[in-house]
Amino acid sequence: MWRPETLPAERASESGTPALGVDASAPVLRGGAGVDASAPALRGGAGVDESAPALRGGAGVDESAPVLRGGAGVDASAPALRGGAGVLEPEVAARFQRIYQRPVTLEVKELGRCFDSDQGRVAALDNISFRAHRREFLCVIGPSGCGKSTLIRILAGLDSPTSGEMLLDGEPARGPCPDRGMVFQGYTLFPWRTVLQNVMFGPEMGGASRASAEEQAREWVEIVGLGRFMHAYPHQLSGGMKQRVAIARALANKPRILFMDEPFAALDAQTRAQMQSYLIQLWKSIDITIVFVTHDLEEAVYLADRILVLGAHPGRVREIVEVPVPRPRSRDQLVHPLFIATKKHLEALIHTPAEAAEEEGVIEPTIRMTQAGDEVE
Ligand code: ADP
Ligand code: MG
Repeated sequence: MWRPETLPAERASESGTPALGVDASAPVLRGGAGVDASAPALRGGAGVDESAPALRGGAGVDESAPVLRGGAGVDASAPALRGGAGVLEPEVAARFQRIYQRPVTLEVKELGRCFDSDQGRVAALDNISFRAHRREFLCVIGPSGCGKSTLIRILAGLDSPTSGEMLLDGEPARGPCPDRGMVFQGYTLFPWRTVLQNVMFGPEMGGASRASAEEQAREWVEIVGLGRFMHAYPHQLSGGMKQRVAIARALANKPRILFMDEPFAALDAQTRAQMQSYLIQLWKSIDITIVFVTHDLEEAVYLADRILVLGAHPGRVREIVEVPVPRPRSRDQLVHPLFIATKKHLEALIHTPAEAAEEEGVIEPTIRMTQAGDEVE
């Protein structure tokens, strides 16, 4: 389990960072089925409980602090706080402790997926095991072709594993069901349906009456900030707006867990940044666990509580990284030493020296199209 080697002398001022428009006093929106109204909601601001006992000791770490192991409801697979090999800031450590104490929403056990091709059997995924806790934001990263989409399709019930299993709230999960929502990279809206009609689709399929489906859909369209575009068609929307509709459409089924496969990859940099901040706001205000695939390391560090790093050929878990960057996240943190250290660590995990050399060898020398002596530096 990786930890940043040292803590920076100063931490980015959280009080000075914009709260991404989240109203800390806002009530937490609850989904529908499977939601426990008595469960503690995350605080609006940071998900950090200021009243939680601080784990402060001499060097900022209390060795006697409860280690994240054992106990009822505690994730035994969760990494223990390691004194020597780097530490988390106390409030970040406390946040992880609270995450691991929450129920396990998704449990993946020794999952494997093989494909039969002309070259024989290819193992796309091998022995994948991890857990996602309720209301956790888990990102999955890895090099292209390592099996991220294969994994998330299996988790969403759109494909089946060849070995292993997955449990949703402790029960074996098979086939697509309303408990699992999915948002894809491409725009997958029905072009002949309006925004409202697209979002109504799930509730209608689930057996809701037209009036009830419309009422639920209206609410979700408002929540994703597209009330003014209720009757617009997909071709009249920008890329970011289309993905908001896709998110609303997935959430209208009241899933307990939302799977997202590179949902912002096709967006321009500015829209992507807005959508990331927006997704964090949404996640904080509804009771949902998110598993988010990306190949963008910065996006993963910005969004995630933890990051599942996959290696390629076959896709295996290389490491599960606890993101040491405090919440609430803001774009100012992109230059925070902890943010940069985490990104570098992920880069090193994904681009091992052998892989980097392999990639380098692939690039052919370009044909010279300029005059001799016409050099650029
Ligand atoms: P990623 O999303 O990480 O880029 P994918 O999950 O799309 O990776 O693919 C992982 C590996 O599985 C790749 O080698 C890909 O060629 C292979 N693969 C994915 N889907 C199929 C399929 N339907 N049939 C055969 N091979 C597949
Ligand atoms: Mg993919």
